[in-house]
Amino acid sequence: MKFDTVIIGGGLAGLSCGIRLAEAGRRCAIVSQGQSAIHFSSGSFDLLGQLPDGTPVEDPAEGIAALEKCAPEHPYARIGAQACERYAEAARKLLCEAGIPVSGSPRRNHYRITPLGMAKPTWLTIDGYLTTPSPEVLPFRSVCIVNVEGFLDFYPEFIAEAFRRHGVSCRFASVNSPDLENIRRNPSEMRSANIARVFDHEQNLDRLAARIREAARECEAVILPAIIGINRSDAFEVLKAKVDLPLYLLPTLPPSIPGIKAQQALQHRFRALGGEYFLGDSVLSAEVEKNRVKSIRTVNHGDIPFEAEAFVLASGSFFSRGLIATPDRIVEPVFGADTDFVPNRTEWYTEHFFDRHNYEAFGIRTDRSLKLLKEGSVMENLYGIGAGLSGFHPVQEGCGAGVSLISALFVADRILNSLKS
Ligand SMILES: Cc1cc2nc3c(=O)[nH]c(=O)nc-3n(C[C@H](O)[C@H](O)[C@H](O)COP(=O)(O)OP(=O)(O)OC[C@H]3O[C@@H](n4cnc5c(N)ncnc54)[C@H](O)[C@@H]3O)c2cc1C
Repeated sequence: MKFDTVIIGGGLAGLSCGIRLAEAGRRCAIVSQGQSAIHFSSGSFDLLGQLPDGTPVEDPAEGIAALEKCAPEHPYARIGAQACERYAEAARKLLCEAGIPVSGSPRRNHYRITPLGMAKPTWLTIDGYLTTPSPEVLPFRSVCIVNVEGFLDFYPEFIAEAFRRHGVSCRFASVNSPDLENIRRNPSEMRSANIARVFDHEQNLDRLAARIREAARECEAVILPAIIGINRSDAFEVLKAKVDLPLYLLPTLPPSIPGIKAQQALQHRFRALGGEYFLGDSVLSAEVEKNRVKSIRTVNHGDIPFEAEAFVLASGSFFSRGLIATPDRIVEPVFGADTDFVPNRTEWYTEHFFDRHNYEAFGIRTDRSLKLLKEGSVMENLYGIGAGLSGFHPVQEGCGAGVSLISALFVADRILNSLKS
């Protein structure tokens, strides 16, 4: 099979790169072995929340400019501050055009509210989710926190405790319906995705709206876990109209409805642009000649190679098995590409869970144009994007989605420009 570009990994990075290339008319394939980190998404996309020394970032574009000096190996610093700001705006547009309605600016972080009620800085949030311009102030003085009876992946008490610290009075309510009784018979079925399917039905939305109206009387707003609209994109708007009070969603523990929907929307957009998405297939190996990848081979396609002019590795980090930790090395399993890590394993992590651990910044080594290296030589047509890149701490710096989106668009441009020259 012949393509212009083959992308290994269909998470946020791989799909965004594929969409950009397909928009430009390139024949593009994505091979992806399974679920990606976006399935676990909070509904917000982080750009930069903290500098490596812990300094909070209000203006991510300014923070990225500071990284050029204090963290020159950071993917943002490699791409350059001005280009990052340009790609950030292009990424927002790409998400919206794919049907993921997000709001936010690379010039000012807003705050999303976590499943435990804490405020975290972020860049883009999907419409409908509770956000606030300042971590100290919520957009209401009284709120009704509604949960589904028996749903254990959402914690109204924790949320209320955090909200009360900001002077918000909280009331609780729970909802039930005969259709929920069916899934409640097996406690392991009481997950957000199954509950959301129940509320795709009009009569259950009606029942939910009636219960909210009754419970939230005299409250300024209503909080609901993200259990609305898995197969029906208008469900939240319909519910809002029926409730007639400001209604906000909060993320739940996984599975994440906003994440599942975002993944589906990106896949749909890529396919609609003519891209070929091979889900459930794994790339096993590559044929390389004189620092150029000729083809890759996958589990499902056996002897049939995928040939292309350019290849993009978007296989993620340890979470997605894009990187493997052996007792003494960090391995990139498909190409055997060079990786950045500290050799002494005792320095990989500390005993404190919330520390800035060295292993988080381990990843594939690239040059300034994000081409991979193998045994010290640059691979001419193989690029790396997303969570598998080295040089950044997605959790501590709050930059996971931003690195995936921006590196994806940067590499797409490099590939398109290389074709022009
Ligand atoms: C649980 C979790 C939750 C997160 N939540 C957020 C959040 O809410 N906001 C935020 O800003 N950031 C979040 N992040 C950070 C996250 O890393 C990025 O947001 C981003 O989604 C990563 O996308 P990616 O495409 O680079 O990698 P991934 O999402 O890891 O995708 C890699 C893909 O490659 C596939 N793959 C791997 N190896 C192969 C192979 N050999 N052949 C074929 N396919 C392969 C995998 O199956 C996977 O689908 C989260 C991270 C995790 C782990």
